[in-house]
Amino acid sequence: MEEEFKGKHILLTGASGGIGAAIARALGEKGAIITASDLSAEGIIADHIITGDLADPDFANNLVNQAQNLMGGIDILVNNAGIIRRGPVTQSSDEDLRLSLAVNVEAPFRLCRAAIPIMASQGGGNIVNIASCWGVHPGPNHALYCMTKGALASLTQAMGLDHAGDNIRINAVCPNEVNTPMLRSGFAMRGFDPDKAVEDLGNTVPLGRIAEAEDIADVVIFLASHAARYMCGSLIEVNGGKRVS
Ligand code: NAD
Repeated sequence: MEEEFKGKHILLTGASGGIGAAIARALGEKGAIITASDLSAEGIIADHIITGDLADPDFANNLVNQAQNLMGGIDILVNNAGIIRRGPVTQSSDEDLRLSLAVNVEAPFRLCRAAIPIMASQGGGNIVNIASCWGVHPGPNHALYCMTKGALASLTQAMGLDHAGDNIRINAVCPNEVNTPMLRSGFAMRGFDPDKAVEDLGNTVPLGRIAEAEDIADVVIFLASHAARYMCGSLIEVNGGKRVS
């Protein structure tokens, strides 16, 4: 696995976030050529950076072509960008609905739609979507997040079937709780000390801690590697033994 990513062309979204930065770091160390995208370039280390809003259909529709023009090919697409909106449907606004669908479902749809023909013309490729355990087993008080991650999980399974014949493997990683700004900002918003809350939450996980971003990045890399060559349309839960309850 050490050499196989050398010179491979990667397009990664959400690259300045917790999990995205870990994926970029790990693939960069393995010699991959990375085009990274996010709302801003803050903290991104990559060969090429394209900033923009994935909720903008024009930006999402053009991102793959921009990356293709910069790198001359796309071997691996990682749809990692995502947002979380808290609350039941009765506390979710139209704007929460629009943005959750746009970022968590429509953008991965648009990027996959653009990347698949490029990968097919290259003889194959690989797509890893970051869904969530909550997309497979919905948890409480996050209706839009569960709905949109469920849609992404289902889209992954459907695309995995449809494009296996083009030698394109499409899978999703479904993390439970990960120690990233997404999780920590939620604690802070509710008035908790994020360090203490992360520690307390770790005590509820059979492995004794919540995931770090690197725990998730390693599974992304596995799915994109030759070692996962027979995996296609799979949803991989990465949860430290903790089920959604
Ligand atoms: P994060 O908030 O640190 O990173 C998410 C990134 O997505 C951010 O850098 C953000 O700027 C980017 N993004 C958001 N909206 C965007 C937009 N409109 N256009 C472009 N980029 C946008 O969160 P993270 O924990 O690193 O999350 C990465 C992925 O993992 C997400 O899809 C998230 O839903 C998923 N996930 C996270 C957890 C967790 O506990 N942290 C659990 C399960 C799944």
